[in-house]
Amino acid sequence: MIDRFEQKFIPEPNSGCWLWTAATDEHGYGRFRIGSKIDGTRRTAIAPRVSWSIYKGKIPEATNVLHSCDNPYCVNPDHLFLGTQNDNMKDCSAKGRTSKGDRHSLIQKSHIPTGKDHWRYGQPGNNPGEKHWAARLSADDVRAIRADARTCEQIAKEYQVSFQQVARIKNRERWAHVK
Ligand SMILES: [Zn+2]
Repeated sequence: MIDRFEQKFIPEPNSGCWLWTAATDEHGYGRFRIGSKIDGTRRTAIAPRVSWSIYKGKIPEATNVLHSCDNPYCVNPDHLFLGTQNDNMKDCSAKGRTSKGDRHSLIQKSHIPTGKDHWRYGQPGNNPGEKHWAARLSADDVRAIRADARTCEQIAKEYQVSFQQVARIKNRERWAHVK
């Protein structure tokens, strides 16, 4: 399964994103067939979730695999993080985020076999904040985002990042070192 998975993305050197090149759903998330017809477990899974299962391990129930890089095509496990619907919503929902929800939650249960140690993926970089590959924000931006009372979506639009990133910043899951 890993071989098949790895034929379906291309690492993008600048961002470090692994860009999915195979089929995607209408939201841009890669689709990947898992399971087998024989035992009836065949189904289409969402590629970032598969990536997490392969390289990082099991996804707890009711947990979403979210992108820190704002790129739905990306399946680089180091650009993914786990969050519950609550984590994702706790700062934004109250402020008016409603419609879309998180698409990864469409498939909550994971029957994906966990890749054990076939393939140790390198540890994510430890550089916090501005040195991080995804940093498009300055420490001042981060302070401004935390103080911003608009919805995460509005803030995200202005700063050209994902609302998930905004939520994580507000929840101090990212840029925790910025006071
Ligand atoms: Zn990425």
